[in-house]
This record gives sequence, C-alpha cells and structure tokens, in this order.
Amino acid sequence: MPRVRLEHLVKSYGRVRAVDDLCLEVEDREFFVLYGPSGAGKTTTLKLIAGAEHPDSGEVHIGGRRVDLLEPDARNVAMTFESYALYPHYSVYDNIAFPLRAPDRRMSRAEIDERVRWAARLLGIEHVLGHKPAEISQGQRQRTALARAIVRPADVYLFDEPLSHVDAKVRHYMRGELHRMSTMLNNTIIYVTHDYVEALSLGDRVGVLDHGRLHQVGTPREVYYAP
Ligand code: ADP
Ligand code: ADP
Repeated sequence: MPRVRLEHLVKSYGRVRAVDDLCLEVEDREFFVLYGPSGAGKTTTLKLIAGAEHPDSGEVHIGGRRVDLLEPDARNVAMTFESYALYPHYSVYDNIAFPLRAPDRRMSRAEIDERVRWAARLLGIEHVLGHKPAEISQGQRQRTALARAIVRPADVYLFDEPLSHVDAKVRHYMRGELHRMSTMLNNTIIYVTHDYVEALSLGDRVGVLDHGRLHQVGTPREVYYAP
C-alpha cells in the first residue's frame, strides 16, 4: 500500500486552478520530489496533503486512511512552510524542540531531549545546540530548520523548497547532507523544488508539475532522458 495517495485532487483560487486533477502515489520510505516552475501548484499540493487547505474535490489518503476530511491536527504530517524562520531569541536546541513542546503533545522532557539530540545528530549540529541562530553559519541555520522539520515522528515529511534561501555554495553541500539525512530518517518524504539539479540528485522519483498537472513521473534517469 502506498504511504500517500492523491486521487483526482482539484483546488482553485478564484479562477486559478492551482491543482488540476492530480493523481499520485508515493511509496513508503520513498523520497519523492515535486518539481516545477513557480506557480505550478507545488505548495498547494503540499498544503492539501498537510490539511492546511481543503480540496474542492478529490481525496487524500495517508497510510490507507482518507484524511482530507480531517483537520490538520488529526493528521500525522510534518511540514516546513518557510523552513528558514527560526526564532532568533531561542537557542538552536529550543528551536528544534519547539514542535515537540506543543501543549497537546505531552512529551516528557527526556523524550524531547532524545528526539532533539537525534535530529541534531542527523544534521551534524550537536555542537551548536546552545547557540542562538545569529551566532551560527548560514548552513547551520538551514540544518537547524531541517532538524526542526524532522524532529517529530510523522507518517510523511513535507519539505517546501528548504534550500531556496541559501546561497549556491551552501545549497551544493546541503544537497549531500539532505541525502544522508533522508537515508537515516528512513521515512516518506515529499520534497518541493523548482531546481532541476536538486530534483534529479535527491529524488528516488521525480514528478514534473506544471499548471497544476503532473506531466511526468519517473526516476531521475527517466525524467532526465525524457524532458
Ligand atoms: P508553486 O508552489 O508551484 O509556486 P503554488 O501552489 O504556490 O505554486 O500556486 C499555484 C497557483 O495558485 C499560482 O497561480 C498561485 O498564484 C495561486 N495561488 C496559490 N495560493 C493562492 C492563494 N492563497 N490565493 C490565490 N491564489 C493562490
Ligand atoms: P525549560 O525551558 O522547559 O526549562 P530547557 O530548555 O531548559 O527546558 O531544557 C531541558 C533539557 O533540555 C535540559 O536538561 C538539557 O538537557 C536540554 N537543553 C536545553 N537547552 C539546551 C542547550 N542549549 N544545549 C543543550 N541541551 C539543552
């Protein structure tokens, strides 16, 4: 059974069809990249999966359960909307811990500590946990945002252009980091980007989205040879 199944999703904003009859299956533990130009409907698709938007029609299934009728809190989905927005007055540790401290989560201090350190280890930032965002490098800030995104256990992790705010050099080495992180995370990831190199280098499969429609779905090799 696929981890995520989208069935004929449609979402319009006024006269704009942001998502137009989208069907997609993402497998358990797959790193799936949604690739397309600005305005293609990538973010809207993620929001529909996360429950931040409700579809006009169509269905979202996660782990075999239909979830498009549920509120976001009833879904177990982790999404980074703007992954770079760290709280400047919080330490790296507290930024990462933030999603675990929501009042409804009831995680013990020890559980929180274990998850935060696990996420920090995956991203290689254990040594800066006590620092404030202003005191660490751009790449470390990006890793902090990614650690915060993966810190809570979820059925699927949604990443919306997590590298769009970093410069070319950082983006280059963060691709390698992301690849390593995803292998260790060993969970389902849907990753949005408008960067062709990023799409082809990160995805197990890549879906090419334009005008709300999936024009192509395949391995990076298949997408590369059939542009
Ligand atoms: P992408 O993430 O690929 O850049 P989006 O999903 O953000 O694309 O947007 C798809 C289309 O829907 C665009 O034409 C965009 O202008 C429109 N759109 C997205 N969100 C809204 C909104 N809240 N209100 C009106 N139009 C929107
Ligand atoms: P609270 O804010 O609720 O008092 P804390 O943030 O002080 O909770 O932290 C609880 C535990 O989390 C600490 O015992 C420590 O292990 C860990 N911790 C908190 N901040 C840091 C930090 N900057 N660096 C490393 N570990 C930290």
